[in-house]
Amino acid sequence: MTAGGDLLVHGGTVVAPGGVATADILLQRGAIARVAPGIDAPADLERLDASGMLVLPGLVNSHMHSGENFNPGLYENLPLDVWFVHSHQVTRTEPLAAEGIYARTLLGATLMLESGTTSCVDFLYEAPEITLETLEPVVQAYRDAGMRATILLGVADKPFAASLPLSDGGAAASREAPPPSLERIMRLARDAVERWHEPGGMTGIGLGPSAPQRCTPELLDATLALARERGLVWQTHVLETKSQAYTSRHWHGASFVELLSERGMLGPEATLVHTVWLSDRDIDLMARTRTTAVHCLLSNLRLGDGIARLHALRDAGVRVALGTDGRGCDETLDMFELAKMTALVHKARGGDFTRWVTAADALDMCTAAASICTGHDGRTGRIESGRLGDLILVPLDAPALVPLHDPVRQVVYGAAGSAVRAAVVNGRVVVRDGQTVGVDRARLEAHAHRYAAESRAGERASDAARRETDGGAMYEEVERIDLDVNSYLRN
Ligand SMILES: [Zn+2]
Repeated sequence: MTAGGDLLVHGGTVVAPGGVATADILLQRGAIARVAPGIDAPADLERLDASGMLVLPGLVNSHMHSGENFNPGLYENLPLDVWFVHSHQVTRTEPLAAEGIYARTLLGATLMLESGTTSCVDFLYEAPEITLETLEPVVQAYRDAGMRATILLGVADKPFAASLPLSDGGAAASREAPPPSLERIMRLARDAVERWHEPGGMTGIGLGPSAPQRCTPELLDATLALARERGLVWQTHVLETKSQAYTSRHWHGASFVELLSERGMLGPEATLVHTVWLSDRDIDLMARTRTTAVHCLLSNLRLGDGIARLHALRDAGVRVALGTDGRGCDETLDMFELAKMTALVHKARGGDFTRWVTAADALDMCTAAASICTGHDGRTGRIESGRLGDLILVPLDAPALVPLHDPVRQVVYGAAGSAVRAAVVNGRVVVRDGQTVGVDRARLEAHAHRYAAESRAGERASDAARRETDGGAMYEEVERIDLDVNSYLRN
């Protein structure tokens, strides 16, 4: 278990559950021991001067894919099924070198830490498949950056082509490497948990069966059973697009949420990511089973998925957290940007303005409400004694904060992640003066350029181009079908 640090963060303007006030924060063994003005601490205790700073809980990114950290700017106007072909490199036959995987992970970790995210859920895909050898550099990079990370083994046991609607999957599937067996996936999961999982600590291992249409029911069941047995985080992508809503109805005569419910798979241990194309019944099932939703607004906008029914989810009592998704559809991994967009976009629905998402709601969705998604339920996301010591500092002279009226509103509607000057994780200062401590920036950038090029070169472009054509035709056909749900903006 990674040892937590002792630290006094003094003189800051602290955003705490009881309100905003000037206070010191005493961190002991990585946790918040006291929050009070003028704490009398031993002279030899490490100090972080927070005077002139707003101190907020560290933000939580509840869904991203570090496997896409080399992919900013690669795609334009591709719907998910077509985009997926490129971003997840389904045609790659050799894994990236360990040094490349390390650089790829560290690059994302620094982006997140320096924009105020202290904890993430990394739904990790690796091509051609995840192994202990490809996982090791991922774990090491987060540990070296000092970031709290829950790493999910992103797995699927159906060929990609067989997961698409209107596809027989046969001819296309034959060109892919066969997916790993259930037994192989579960052995890897148990070995990875044994080796790296720290319950309640800095590194978590969890399970990420890709999506109901990409996994056999046996894989969904086995991964959730292991998650329940060991107290691990379990996430899956659900009803992100119209094509998935159609697939579910076409194959099963029911939505994927109904299907998961029938299999006893909904509950507080399950997190459903995206949930864009939900019916009223789906929302009711999630609320009754206390299943969490991760809302990835920017990714959904970028891929033309439609817009999740955030107000309906919240009104039903579903806990909602926010995730950026991968850099293949959200270049910045900036949770401030995402919180702002989340608080703004849904107001465009009109309706009862007293129910609109507020800045404080949006901040909660990437702090306290998100803690369950990382496996730290109730232990992160608030500045109060007993919580884990994850904090960020934003200068009070940032343009959006002058003059100061309501710090939370001003920071959510007006600050970008680039305003963050310092971050503390587990009682240790990991960002100072806006830079991740101990990371050689020039070396990291050189490795990012080198291995991003290597990563692209490993893909078989001809297969990708062919699938893009197939996916495009499929997309057009599904677009012409009328469904009982609709999450597009239509004039
Ligand atoms: Zn995702």
